[in-house]
Amino acid sequence: MSRTPVVGGNFKCNGTVKFIQEHAEVLKKIENNGVEVFVCPTALHSSLLQSLMAGSHVEVAAQNMYFQKPGAWTGELAGELLVDAGIKTTLIGHSERRRIMGESNEESAKKAKRALELGLKVVFCIGETLAEREANQVDAVNFAQLEALRLITVEADWKNIVVAYEPVWSIGTGVVASPAQAQTVHESLRKWFAEKVSAKVAQEIRIQYGGSVNAKNCAELSSCKDIDGFLVGGASLKPEFLDIVKILGDTKKKM
Ligand code: PEP
Repeated sequence: MSRTPVVGGNFKCNGTVKFIQEHAEVLKKIENNGVEVFVCPTALHSSLLQSLMAGSHVEVAAQNMYFQKPGAWTGELAGELLVDAGIKTTLIGHSERRRIMGESNEESAKKAKRALELGLKVVFCIGETLAEREANQVDAVNFAQLEALRLITVEADWKNIVVAYEPVWSIGTGVVASPAQAQTVHESLRKWFAEKVSAKVAQEIRIQYGGSVNAKNCAELSSCKDIDGFLVGGASLKPEFLDIVKILGDTKKKM
C-alpha cells in the first residue's frame, strides 16, 4: 500500500484555552507510526495550539477559509492569513458549512482552488444526506461535489488534496457507516477519479472516511483497502484519538 494513511481531528466550535492546553499534552504523545496527523482547532485557538505542538508529529490545520483576498469580509479568514500564520492545510466544504452555512458546491470548490493557489493543502469534504442515500443518490451527490472542483483544477492539483468522505447521516450521530458501506463509496470515488481525472490520481489520492469514528469501530474500517484514514470529530477531543491513530497505523502496516 503506497498511500500514507492520514487522520485528522476536527474540533469544530469547541474548546477553551484550558482544554487546548490540556489536550495538547495528550496529542504530544502521538508517535510517528507511519500515519500523518493533523488537528483543526477553532481559529481562535490555532496559534496557541501551534506553539504547544511545536516539534510534535501533529500538524495544526484550519477548519475553513474564504476564497477572497484579504479585505472587508467581516468574520471571514482569507487564505493569505492562514499562510501568514504558518498554517499548511485546511478543511474545505465540511458538511456543516455546506448544510448549515449554505455553502454551495461551487463555493466549496472556489475555496479549495484558492487554497491550492496559495500553496495550502486541502482536505475536501464530501458526502450525502440520509434522504439522498435513501433515494439512491449517493454517487450522484458525491460526484457532483467533486466535479465542481474538477472543473476548476488541473490534474497536478490533486496531489495536494485529500478527500474526506463524510456521509452527513453519520456525522455526530453515533451511526457509523459499516465498513462495507464506506468501502463501496470509496471504491466508487476511486473509479470516478480514474474516469474523470487520471488512473494515477485514482491510485494515489487519499480518501478519508469521517462520521462517528471512534477507537472501537476504526479497526474494521482501517482494514478496507480504499479507506486511507479518518476525519474525526467528537473523538478527536478525547484521548481515544491517539488509539485511532495507532490502530489505523498498525492495521495498514499489516496490509
Ligand atoms: C466531523 O466533524 O468531520 C465528524 C466526522 O464528526 P464525528 O466524528 O463527531 O461524527
